[in-house]
Amino acid sequence: MTDHTHADTLRTPIVAVLGHVDHGKTSLLDTIRGSAVSEGEAGAITQHIGATDIPLDTISGMAGELIDPSDFDLPGLLFIDTPGHHSFSTLRARGGALADIAVLVVDVNDGFQPQTEEAIDILRRTGTPFVVAANKVDTTPGWNPQDGEPIQRSMEAQSERAKSMLDENLYEIIGQLSDAGFSADLYWRVQDFQKNIGVVPLSALTAEGVPDLLTVLMGLSQRFMKEEMAIDVRGPGEGTVLEVKDERGFGATVDTVVYDGVIRNGDQIVVGGQNEPIVTEVRALLRPRPLAEIRTEKEFEKVGEIGAAAGVKIAAPDLDQAMAGAPVRVVRDRTVDEVIEEVKAELAEIEVDTAENGVVVKADTLGSLEAMANALREAEVPILRAEVGDIAPRDIAVAETANQDEHKAILGFNVDLLQNAESDLENADVKLFKNEVIYQLVEDYERYVEEKQRAQQ
Ligand code: GDP
Repeated sequence: MTDHTHADTLRTPIVAVLGHVDHGKTSLLDTIRGSAVSEGEAGAITQHIGATDIPLDTISGMAGELIDPSDFDLPGLLFIDTPGHHSFSTLRARGGALADIAVLVVDVNDGFQPQTEEAIDILRRTGTPFVVAANKVDTTPGWNPQDGEPIQRSMEAQSERAKSMLDENLYEIIGQLSDAGFSADLYWRVQDFQKNIGVVPLSALTAEGVPDLLTVLMGLSQRFMKEEMAIDVRGPGEGTVLEVKDERGFGATVDTVVYDGVIRNGDQIVVGGQNEPIVTEVRALLRPRPLAEIRTEKEFEKVGEIGAAAGVKIAAPDLDQAMAGAPVRVVRDRTVDEVIEEVKAELAEIEVDTAENGVVVKADTLGSLEAMANALREAEVPILRAEVGDIAPRDIAVAETANQDEHKAILGFNVDLLQNAESDLENADVKLFKNEVIYQLVEDYERYVEEKQRAQQ
């Protein structure tokens, strides 16, 4: 729990988990949460909305001899729960960068894959410190799980054959990191985590190596991020929208990660919206009920205030136009206009160059929209319009106005075609591309353009 009695306190570092599909992001988050639940005393771990708080006590309980809690004054770690694209794309390049630190999950048998490269690009661009979780070590033929041992000792206890197979895979990953411009090594050989990326072999399945990962994340935060963690816990709250969700009885709500200050019930807030900043008033701050009902998401309790860093669901009027990835700001101590300007300035940093001719782009969050725009710029595909949200009839109408046939296209990243747009799409001369992997979406479109051009020759 954050201590609200001091004006200047160190907040919990925010951790995002990235990596290629199926490499084990969800399993790793489940294991971290699960081990924490069995380790912690009842009520010690709170399941926040969109984020899970693992206090230092719990980490030290899990990590045993690996960690001496008296070395730390950071309160613990806050994991963003939604793995992959979501946390990935809310990791913004500038302004309200959501995560302080990241875990890049790589399947030890599979090595780097396209989404690993995409994640690396974002981590590099944002300068986010990260560690690599070399996952699925238990799939090494002949692997003999060593319960409760640090991973280095677990590895030493394996057969020569298993050891050398795992080593080979781990060095492959270290080599791929080096090709990507990062000097990396197994974490226990790393002296300076600011210069070298630590690789933590682990298994999300057996939980071996997971305490090691938490220890490395704590150490990295404590050594290199203390200054950024110093916040005025009474200051006006600042956060990022993770998701916009309709909630029965509350209407549109925003799941938010608060990374600075405090948000109170009744506060006036400004939230980044699809057309313009939304000015509204917090009607309720909601968190799921404690431990026992961890999976029943409908069960909320109202809290009076929430301090950084934490996840919370905000219920307030007029949030239906809020955007995932957009800033949330409490107005306290400033004028509404000042805060509106701040939010606008932050949104303006998201660079999407549009042209008079081009394709329509839709994406699930601001961060992913920005990533799509970057990928399309590199592929020299012009953009006519780029927006956050599902594909609506209006988007089809806009795409249809394109002068060139190849531009009569909508590229949707991680979004759906709205039901009321289905017949419009059937009747329109517009091609829809949908994918959850940016590079595939761009490739599919490029292939389509090539085929079209070939057909015309
Ligand atoms: P995500 O797409 O990155 O979130 O990956 P998931 O967590 O859904 O995992 C993909 C698959 O790999 C699932 O079938 C998991 O059970 C499996 N998996 C994940 N971690 C491990 C691991 O450490 N060991 C083994 N053997 N399987 C794993």
